[in-house]
Amino acid sequence: MAGRPVALLDRDGVLVRNLDGYVRDERDVVVLDGGRRGLELLARAGVQVAVVTNQACVGKGLLDERRVLEVHDHVLASLGPAARCVVATYVCPHRADDGCPCRKPAPGMVHAALHDLGAGPDDAFLVGDAPGDVHAALAAGVRAHLVRTGRATPDDVRALAPVARVAADLEAVVRHELARRDGRVTVDA
Ligand SMILES: [Mg+2]
Ligand SMILES: [Zn+2]
Repeated sequence: MAGRPVALLDRDGVLVRNLDGYVRDERDVVVLDGGRRGLELLARAGVQVAVVTNQACVGKGLLDERRVLEVHDHVLASLGPAARCVVATYVCPHRADDGCPCRKPAPGMVHAALHDLGAGPDDAFLVGDAPGDVHAALAAGVRAHLVRTGRATPDDVRALAPVARVAADLEAVVRHELARRDGRVTVDA
């Protein structure tokens, strides 16, 4: 069953600058140019977007869930009109050692997003800046893109290049995906 196309986006390192100590406050939010431009292209193309983000800062007691959602609202507001295509956000609040099914690289949030948006794996692609993003996508049978605007190290890029498409930023990913949808071929950015 072919549904509408769906883009699953990690947040930190894809749409806004990643911080090692987490994006914990409105003042931490720095929009990435390629992230905003990519999101604008998705919005114009009518692609539904779901954000899928690990926020272990909650499980570590650094931030409560209410603040995570407030900061997330600020992220969306900072992205401007392009954020109109973000129809859902999934947050895993757990720590890596909690063993939950939602924290990437587990595919729980990807499965939930596909289910809620009525899409199959073939209709979707996921964009992330870390190995866990790529592995969550692959575990759900979704095309994976790794962008270089966040945490990915040169070793990550080398290790993941066989299983994920590596791109400069979200804008480059979206240009490729829209061309693919339209049956056009693009040269890698
Ligand atoms: Mg990230
Ligand atoms: Zn979780």
